[in-house]
Amino acid sequence: MTSPAPASVSIDPVDLAQALIRRPSVTPADEGAMDLLQRQLDALGFTCRRMKFGEIENLYARRGTARPNLCFAGHTDVVPVGDDAAWTAGPFEAQIRDGVLYGRGAVDMKSAIAAFVSAVGKTPEHPGSISFLITGDEEGVAEDGTVKVVEALAAEGEIIDHCIVGEPTSASLLGDMVKIGRRGSINAWITVEGQQGHVAYPHRAANPIPMLVTILSRLQSRVLDEGYEGFQPSNLEVTTIDVGNTATNVIPSTARARVNIRFNPAHRGKDLQAWIETECASAAEDFKARAEVMCKISGEAFLTKVGPFTDVIVAAVEEATGRAPELSTTGGTSDARFIRSLCPVVEFGLVGSTMHQVDERVPVQEIRDLAKAYEALIRRYFAAFA
Ligand SMILES: [Zn+2]
Repeated sequence: MTSPAPASVSIDPVDLAQALIRRPSVTPADEGAMDLLQRQLDALGFTCRRMKFGEIENLYARRGTARPNLCFAGHTDVVPVGDDAAWTAGPFEAQIRDGVLYGRGAVDMKSAIAAFVSAVGKTPEHPGSISFLITGDEEGVAEDGTVKVVEALAAEGEIIDHCIVGEPTSASLLGDMVKIGRRGSINAWITVEGQQGHVAYPHRAANPIPMLVTILSRLQSRVLDEGYEGFQPSNLEVTTIDVGNTATNVIPSTARARVNIRFNPAHRGKDLQAWIETECASAAEDFKARAEVMCKISGEAFLTKVGPFTDVIVAAVEEATGRAPELSTTGGTSDARFIRSLCPVVEFGLVGSTMHQVDERVPVQEIRDLAKAYEALIRRYFAAFA
């Protein structure tokens, strides 16, 4: 006797996306979004584990125990709605008008989660395992989300072989872009302490501004690189200079600035941090003043090499959308920066043009096409790797 093959389950990804959008899960709130998702996955035969860190809901769900383990990663949290009154309908109503779904999270990225759940419903039989790594803390400080789940899974010896992140990566048409890497990011806060005084008696004061300007000019003048294997050149931007001096006859005591560097894999965050610290120390010596630097590395750069895994994704996207996606490394950081320590990771999702905006929206047909692409991805993945 053989047990009957599990039946394919039809889950409408648009219905599910609407249900998720109606849970107003603005980081760090969850509002039942994770429960809703877990109920769907329980019914599809997944073993669900809630991993709560701080006040953040996280979910790791797996169907199957064998390898390879293909993981879908994403987030149920959304950014704030901004000016509520500027929306043409309530941002959590999930209205469909003229075939377009409106709502916070429609693009980034509740619809992609719904599309993958739908794809998994259509592919009940597969070798290996399918898993979901879903966090409620991607849009916020991202300290109790994917980074902690990844640490916990690694400590347990849980193996994920490949990961697809459902962030909105398409540029103008669904399937025109897949992301295979991301630049890293570092912020540096620089404070120069001088001595306040009267502008007419500069010998009795120490103006911190010339020193700050010198530091910024030295930082700005270095060409970090000319690009790296498909990455844009690394770039440093001065994002603010603050003195806050309202008087015309006072030399201020303190001057502050902040810089951000988006860097490709030619650099590591800690090397850039050391460079910024060295420049500040050397200027402090030249000016005989004090400079303090505080750096925060929000993510290292990474690149997933073009190979069998990216081939599977490209073929699946082409099958479902008719488009050959560009393999890109542009844009901001994402949770892929944490997952890359576990396994190769590629990102593919909807068109991102309205994400984080008022009237965030997606044509419902694109959600259905994304579900088809994910379904093709699951089939092709296990054909190639199992
Ligand atoms: Zn996102």
